[in-house]
Amino acid sequence: MKKLTSLTDDEIRTLASTGGLPPDIADHMIENVVGGFTFPLGIATNFRINGRDYLVPMALEEPSVVAAASNAAKMARVKGGFTVTNTGPVMIGQIQVVNVPKPETAKSKLLARKSDILKKANDQDPMLVSLGGGAKDLNAKVLSTIKGPMVITELIVNTGDAMGANAVNTMAEAVAPMVEEITGGRVLLRIISNLADRRLVRASAVFDKSAVGGEDVVDGIVLAYAFAEADPYRCATHNKGIMNGVVAVGIACGQDIRALEAGAHSYASRSGKYKPLTTWEKNKEGDLVGELEMPMAVGLVGGAAKTHPTARADIKTLGVKTATELAEVMGAVGLAQNFAALRALASEGIQRGHMKLHARNVAISAGATEKLVDIVAKKMIEERKIRFDRAKELVAELSGSKKRAA
Ligand code: NAD
Repeated sequence: MKKLTSLTDDEIRTLASTGGLPPDIADHMIENVVGGFTFPLGIATNFRINGRDYLVPMALEEPSVVAAASNAAKMARVKGGFTVTNTGPVMIGQIQVVNVPKPETAKSKLLARKSDILKKANDQDPMLVSLGGGAKDLNAKVLSTIKGPMVITELIVNTGDAMGANAVNTMAEAVAPMVEEITGGRVLLRIISNLADRRLVRASAVFDKSAVGGEDVVDGIVLAYAFAEADPYRCATHNKGIMNGVVAVGIACGQDIRALEAGAHSYASRSGKYKPLTTWEKNKEGDLVGELEMPMAVGLVGGAAKTHPTARADIKTLGVKTATELAEVMGAVGLAQNFAALRALASEGIQRGHMKLHARNVAISAGATEKLVDIVAKKMIEERKIRFDRAKELVAELSGSKKRAA
């Protein structure tokens, strides 16, 4: 590393540190490992979900998110917290067949051989089948593409407590020769779909109008939602706010967050227009009602959820016993996070809340030592100049005066 980069010994030591992840485990997780990368881990409080209280671990770099989630959850508690349901842990595996002589006939033949194909798929994973999961159904469709028609076979798989990508991909690969033989075409891709629209969570909560700051705030949030509903530029940020919560819990619990992001945004676009993953309305009592619906492909038995010691400790802290329970918690956190962002935006704006933590981060990046961080941050907030150049000046001034005093 030293030969190839301009890194100092200190910087190399920083890179090499793997924190709570033992180096040998890190080495087995990915390739070309040189060290670890640690995010701060916070615990969001006040979450009551389906009548149960949860301490929610969140790992991320963005200030305010953990505080906002905890605050939103506190307000939701007034009316009983979050209610969340799920559609079960069902994923879709796709098998692409090209050069099919008669696509529509091939589709009918595939459907006629459904039970044989499902049996072949289930033979790959006796463990999953013994737990009540496995390939449960099969779809076939003819796609018209820029390269001509293709036949797509879809395995519908209950993946139990697994996220399921490996399980589903193994099944898709195993049935491919059979699919080729039935269709007379050539199989190309055999892969899970991250548009997990059969693995949804639906979270809802009623936010008491007095708890949120009055009916004006309720009206403001409903108008903010209407903006996102009508405009993809706003909607992207609306959904990003939801993912602040979902991804932070996902990282803490060792989930594949790329899969979560892909699922969320493709689901938001399913109508052909990009839409919010939540809805907000005022009920007849004047309270705010929020609902979230999105895919949540998470697991407890595979991937980093099993191998990463911090993820295991976080899952234990959360106390979830099944993948669907984890998905439900993440749905509630997504809804809470969206509420918190909309409430801040529709009232004082988010910068005020962000200010203190942001100022501290700016102070740290300008070189403030532990003793100076709060002093520099406070001064910048008072001056309403939370800027790197001002932080640098203050650090220089204050370090000088500290040295002189010593
Ligand atoms: P996995 O293969 O490690 O674990 C799943 C297996 O665990 C099942 O096949 C089953 O045999 C066994 N199992 C034991 N107890 C179980 C239970 N209670 N419920 C269900 N299965 C049980 O992992 P996985 O979840 O199939 O795959 C997840 C990994 O795949 C993630 O790390 C993800 O990053 C990766 N991945 C994702 C994609 C994608 O999303 N496009 C593609 C490839 C790989």
